[in-house]
Amino acid sequence: MAKVKKKVKVINIDLEKCNGCRACEVICSAFHAPEKYSLNNPARSRIRMIRKPLDDIYLPVYAGEYTASECMGRDKYVIDGREYDECDFCRASCPSREAFKEPDSGLPLKCDMCEDDPPQEEPLCVKWCLSDALTYEEREEEVEEGEEQAQDLTQEEMERGLKALADKYGLDEMANIMARMLKKE
Ligand code: SF4
Ligand code: SF4
Repeated sequence: MAKVKKKVKVINIDLEKCNGCRACEVICSAFHAPEKYSLNNPARSRIRMIRKPLDDIYLPVYAGEYTASECMGRDKYVIDGREYDECDFCRASCPSREAFKEPDSGLPLKCDMCEDDPPQEEPLCVKWCLSDALTYEEREEEVEEGEEQAQDLTQEEMERGLKALADKYGLDEMANIMARMLKKE
């Protein structure tokens, strides 16, 4: 299959500069609040700080793809004399931990590079990181033709989301909500 160029957006992290202030979590959750900027709740953020102040560990991690199963690897890593769990580096919303799950619904969260409405030229967490621990980069990469389109919600993701809502609220309540929404239209 032919290769085509795709613009890739990347946020680079400089651990040495992160002081654990959590401004990135605050702005991310506010930007994605149901009414923009109506709510600051780091639990809703798509970037989360792994904080162990006594060990001087501050590790920003972005929400990536959801994984339906827990991994088997739980190794420890020592980097520059600091000890990290393997989970600390993982970007997945996974069944074994609460990170990257929307607290009300349990739906997985994923960083969208602030392309939510209105799309931002530069990710807000980068703008709000005053210590420059986060920097934004756009670069071109070669991908298979057809993969260059940014994918919105896939059917699988939508089914997963609906199942999570049905498990939490029950089918009757979901039907009531749908009926109320349709009435308003
Ligand atoms: S890029 Fe935007 S969506 Fe992603 S973590 Fe930063 S603020 Fe949140
Ligand atoms: S805003 Fe920057 S310095 Fe503050 S916690 Fe986030 S990454 Fe670290």
